[in-house]
Amino acid sequence: MSFVQFNLDARLMTGIQRAGYTDPTPIQTAAMPAALTGQDLIGTAQTGTGKTAAFVLPILNKLVNGARNRTRALIVTPTRELAEQIHDTISQLGNATNLRSATIYGGVGATPQIKALRSGVEILVACPGRLLDLIAQGHAKLDFVEFLVLDEADRMFDMGFLPDVKRIIARLPVRRQTMLFSATFPREIEQLASQTLRNPQRIAIGLSRPAITVTHALYPVPQHLKAGLLMQLLKRTDTNSVLIFTRTKHRAQKLAMQIENSGFRVTSLHGNRSQGQRQEALNGFKRGRYQIMVATDIAARGLDVESISHVINYDIPDTADAYIHRIGRTGRMERAGDAFTLVTPEDHEMVRELEKIMGQKLPKLTLEDYDYSVAAPAKPVVSQRPPRQTLAARGVKVISRPASRFQQNHRTGNK
Ligand code: AMP
Repeated sequence: MSFVQFNLDARLMTGIQRAGYTDPTPIQTAAMPAALTGQDLIGTAQTGTGKTAAFVLPILNKLVNGARNRTRALIVTPTRELAEQIHDTISQLGNATNLRSATIYGGVGATPQIKALRSGVEILVACPGRLLDLIAQGHAKLDFVEFLVLDEADRMFDMGFLPDVKRIIARLPVRRQTMLFSATFPREIEQLASQTLRNPQRIAIGLSRPAITVTHALYPVPQHLKAGLLMQLLKRTDTNSVLIFTRTKHRAQKLAMQIENSGFRVTSLHGNRSQGQRQEALNGFKRGRYQIMVATDIAARGLDVESISHVINYDIPDTADAYIHRIGRTGRMERAGDAFTLVTPEDHEMVRELEKIMGQKLPKLTLEDYDYSVAAPAKPVVSQRPPRQTLAARGVKVISRPASRFQQNHRTGNK
């Protein structure tokens, strides 16, 4: 199969060639014919499958022959990084079309974005919050939008953006083509889809399973030995391009410092870093200036780095879906990748979940010559209130009675 079958505008064929694509990926083969005929679409596809081009190419193909200098396509996406990546794909594939796209997201100055809107760019790639601000201020006009893409809809839901997304949709012309992409379909996303799309064609590629080119391994370890084990793992693996996930921003920051102290070139990507710092981290990691990047789930969402060799879950993710999203960063476009997950005894339930969705037992590995027997450091002694008997023994009267409804509610935070 080649891209010729889609009868795309010659300017897009130039872009495809320039991007180095020879054959369409499965999601492109499945989604593009419907998208090119103007049909609404629901795509189940992970990042790394080529889904961006699957919606960008049909949009460009339509826009290339119509009015210019007004917003005709809107792509809504959860994170700035993802917005930049989609924008890059548009610039690359649409290079010969003179169509323009702009990114809209918070955390950076609005002036360049307002300028781009004034200049009448044809495509907006936006995160919901800032776009709503610019609509409210009268800078973004969406009356001529013909295409709406909701990208990574499940993640937008996870991040609490759904109300904003619905507000944006309410501002769009009813006559338009809508494409919704999501790796998973919780009830809220199904509802959004049924409210927003008309007779959509459903396309499912690579369902909720990680790429088959990824090998998975679990490294059981007590909590207090995680950092030590990780350093050993890093020393024993080819560390050219390793992405490590932690549960929180704070843990990402702390771990990055520990890794740096062990002599690696490392950076971090999480919500406590400024937009400039995140961009620098991402570019540095992509170009190899950093061998290792420590990230949180949200910051690394949709990250498109071609050659990540290892994903290491320093902390196991909270859900099987999150695991798939994380692991989707390696083994991209059929390259091989390794996924290591450090598991503590408390992670037992989550491991079972993972094995269920993967349909296989995950191998449990131990590092040779690593001393797993080191005891946990003693916990600092916390001063305790004297037990009740002591009070009673001191002659203090202790009355034990059930808490009132008010007290119970107060404690649990119920109103
Ligand atoms: P995506 O799933 O959209 O994030 O795409 C993942 C990566 O695949 C990106 O780096 C794309 O440039 C690349 N890609 C997309 N389509 C193709 C294709 N047909 N052939 C080769 N690479 C592709």
